[in-house]
Amino acid sequence: QQVSIGVDVGGTKIATGILRGGELQDRQVQPTPETGWEAVLDAVAARVRELQARHPEVRRVGVGVPGPLDLARTRVKFAPNIYGFTDVPLVDGLQARLGQRVVLENDAKAAALAEAHLGAARGTESSVYVTVSTGIGAGIVLNGRIWRGRHGIAGELGHVTVMPGGPVSGAGLDGALEAVASGTAIARDASYALNRDVSTAEAFALAAQGQPAARRIVQQALKHIGVALADLQKLLDPEVFVIGGGVASVGEMFFQGVRAAAEEYAGPFAPVTIRPALLGTNAGVIGAALAAQQAEA
Ligand code: BGC
Repeated sequence: QQVSIGVDVGGTKIATGILRGGELQDRQVQPTPETGWEAVLDAVAARVRELQARHPEVRRVGVGVPGPLDLARTRVKFAPNIYGFTDVPLVDGLQARLGQRVVLENDAKAAALAEAHLGAARGTESSVYVTVSTGIGAGIVLNGRIWRGRHGIAGELGHVTVMPGGPVSGAGLDGALEAVASGTAIARDASYALNRDVSTAEAFALAAQGQPAARRIVQQALKHIGVALADLQKLLDPEVFVIGGGVASVGEMFFQGVRAAAEEYAGPFAPVTIRPALLGTNAGVIGAALAAQQAEA
């Protein structure tokens, strides 16, 4: 039986668990330390040790991280939404702390793998998984395999330019999709418009109640995401798009807005088939664990 530990490092949370025969066990979520990458690695190592103390038979460890990796998947080039996460030797750093092998994967690629094997894209040959959370990312599956590109950056959807001259992202690019449509962007714009701290969840709740500013901000963000999917439809024409991440887990309102824009901007290139992630916010942890199971021993 295949079993491994999965770690999903996010901009705000680290989720962990054990994947045993396709089932996630011992899941836990803790805040991401905000004091730099060494602290993040310390937190991950502590949690892995704790899991291994309870499940000593589990040797394989997979870690998903929200940023582009080098092609060898040993270093994180940068994680745009985690403080101090630039050129991080993550595999060496964790292996030194744990004294065992660690497999690294991009968070969206990990989730794409999970949805393709166990979730909403199961049984398809081609799919694009999109995560909308603190940032925005994608994992492209072609002929059943993750497409990485020449430098490992394929799928960096959050950094596609949708509004030149717009807000600047953590990668330093103005008008990037994640600077205008991520959970962070929605909370930022709602806070500005309403003159107080508004979370992404509250922005959606206010929009649902018809609060005019919140409504406009949420609808604009969903429109940008839908347009991006319509563009991907024209570029890749996958069998299915799967959308997950914290913002997508809002549910019906999210998918209505995204689907409407995707259909409108696909025009004659419709249909755009969009499904919610079946594994929900667990897709990242499960995918990281799967990446560890799939790696050569
Ligand atoms: C990163 C991606 C990641 C996405 C979602 C983006 O800012 O560049 O690598 O997949 O956020 O976490």
